[in-house]
Amino acid sequence: MGGIYVHIPFCRKACHYCNFHFSTSLNARDPMIQAICTEIEMTEGYLSDNNISSIYFGGGTPSILNKEELFLIMDRLRSIYNWKEEIEITLEANAEDIHSERLDFWAEAGINRLSMGVQSFHNEDLIPMNRSHDAVIARKSLDLLARRGDFDISIDLIYGSPTTTQEMWEENVDIFLNYNIDHLSAYCLTVEEGTALHHHIKTKKTLPPDPEKSIEQYDYLMDKMETQGYEHYEISSWARDGKYALHNGNYWKHVSYLGIGPSAHSYNGLERKWNVAHNVKYLSSIESGTLPYESELLSETNLFNEKVMTQLRTMWGIDIDGFKEKEKEHLRKHIPALLRDGLVSNPDNRIVLTRKGKHMADYVSAELIRDEDD
Ligand code: SF4
Repeated sequence: MGGIYVHIPFCRKACHYCNFHFSTSLNARDPMIQAICTEIEMTEGYLSDNNISSIYFGGGTPSILNKEELFLIMDRLRSIYNWKEEIEITLEANAEDIHSERLDFWAEAGINRLSMGVQSFHNEDLIPMNRSHDAVIARKSLDLLARRGDFDISIDLIYGSPTTTQEMWEENVDIFLNYNIDHLSAYCLTVEEGTALHHHIKTKKTLPPDPEKSIEQYDYLMDKMETQGYEHYEISSWARDGKYALHNGNYWKHVSYLGIGPSAHSYNGLERKWNVAHNVKYLSSIESGTLPYESELLSETNLFNEKVMTQLRTMWGIDIDGFKEKEKEHLRKHIPALLRDGLVSNPDNRIVLTRKGKHMADYVSAELIRDEDD
């Protein structure tokens, strides 16, 4: 059973570190919702099975959708796809959008999991990031969610920002833990070309992130979460009581998914395709009856490399038995050196990152992937 990702390409403000696709002009909102509904119809049949196990509203900022817009999209999905009650339907929510009225219609629409972009509980971090919420709003939103208790919650935090001292980071983690939330995603601040952060660093308006501080904060998080009973089940994700993110977990397991909306990616086991990351081009293409995407047929080597890179990020690691004989040989050839360097362990014919390996996951992946002519 596959999953569906819906990209809502609007944000109220541009966060300085962000390189996702979005527009801060909300003018095209109505035609965009119409186009997304049309694309849902046009892509029917992309997934071999219309029974789905997850829907994920990402962006951009899907929490800006009003009730009518959200129901239009959900009703269109319902007219084509089937799902059981236990489906995971996630909506990425900005803290400033968490109000009783919105929560009521999200629940009514079938949303049962919220992924909340908190990033920090300190205004000293949030203001330079140009987030549209502040620390008080973040806490009020989490208080409201805790009182209601009707959604599974995940929050995102960012570590390694030049403004985040170790003390502030430890406080962020403590506040998260006090809210008794089952899932955390924590990302290292990365400086992507073309972002305001990149420009600010180039023009010396902002200090660049300090890699040593990032390592210290990640290490602290790993230790603290372990003592609190959370499983570090993916390199950036922690969960307790088995509350793993199903939709994202399916990406790592190479389950098929269909992406709807500008910049959304899809995968069906044979090819990857990605929609144009441009709102105007997306709208005019859908309006003229053409799906606005490029695609790539995946070679055996591509598929192998993707599996290796994604499985390696998880606590279950790379399952060597799941590969063809020649691929197994390739993997086994690299294990001794990685074991010697303390980067992986090798339980039950799997390759699993050690703590040291988690800091060097890109290097380990690069060692294990294959060239086309290997
Ligand atoms: S709200 Fe999310 S998608 Fe929008 S700019 Fe900020 S980080 Fe990027």
